Amino acid sequence: MSGSEEKNRSVFPTARELLAKHGLLPKRSLGQNFLVDTRVQERIVDAARVSGQDVVVEIGAGLGALTARLFPRAASVIALERDASLARVLRAEFAGAANLQIVEADALKFDLVAAAQAAGRPLVVVGNLPYVVTSPVIFATLEAAAGGQVVDRAVLMVQKEFAQRMLSPPGGREYGRLSVMVQQAAETEILFHVGPGAFLPPPAVVSTVVRLRPRAQPLCESSDAGLFSLLVREAFGTRRKMLRRALEPAFGSARVAAALAAAGIAGTRRAEELSVADFVRLAQALAHA
Ligand code: SAM
Repeated sequence: MSGSEEKNRSVFPTARELLAKHGLLPKRSLGQNFLVDTRVQERIVDAARVSGQDVVVEIGAGLGALTARLFPRAASVIALERDASLARVLRAEFAGAANLQIVEADALKFDLVAAAQAAGRPLVVVGNLPYVVTSPVIFATLEAAAGGQVVDRAVLMVQKEFAQRMLSPPGGREYGRLSVMVQQAAETEILFHVGPGAFLPPPAVVSTVVRLRPRAQPLCESSDAGLFSLLVREAFGTRRKMLRRALEPAFGSARVAAALAAAGIAGTRRAEELSVADFVRLAQALAHA
């Protein structure tokens, strides 16, 4: 047993103990790298600043490493877990926790809007995200976030490379659709990095904990959200092409020319050179072109 797992003993059975007790092995296909470093578990829960009024949605509860630290602090926790055998473990291990609801479900199908309505307040989303669904979970969370009405904040562990793409400024190779979509919808910060040794089994990559706060007013007006999303998708679909060429198939050459002129953006530029503010201006211009 590693030092970090040993420290976990006083709080909750270790991942290794729980797997042995329930006769399970981690499933790679579901991204099951369990967080065993108690210091990191604590830092993630601290970063979510959970208080007694908060309703927390935990994505991918696994063997309950974060769950065990969340429900004593929150008004209630909805722990989503796709794997039926892990949902059974969670139900057995947390049988006495009245403010914890274990939901065996695909997090991508979970209705955050309905959960926030039932809670009567914006949710706190926490998760050591399974690698396989990181991108769709973040897009779905931001889409549902509704300017902070549905999700107040999210503290998520993702792959380091993914976090860098989310926060990348224009110009770099990491700057892309993810960067623009996340930055227009949320204030995002990198909190800390976590090495492979903090997990069982250790993943091949370094992980990063990020905090997202959906903007009360996304940079792009909500009426233009669909258009903005299409614009960014098309622009980066062929990121090496000049903007004008990349956008013409979806929007038509006359409309693209008019919108670029109105937004003051040269059609010869490439998507990776445009700032988030440029994309917002261009979406507004397209809406009126
Ligand atoms: N939270 C635990 C921890 O920190 O040790 C487990 C984290 S593990 C990286 C990701 C968990 O998400 C796994 O338990 C996996 O079964 C679960 N999972 C994978 N895909 C999921 C999905 N679509 N919806 C809900 N849970 C999912």
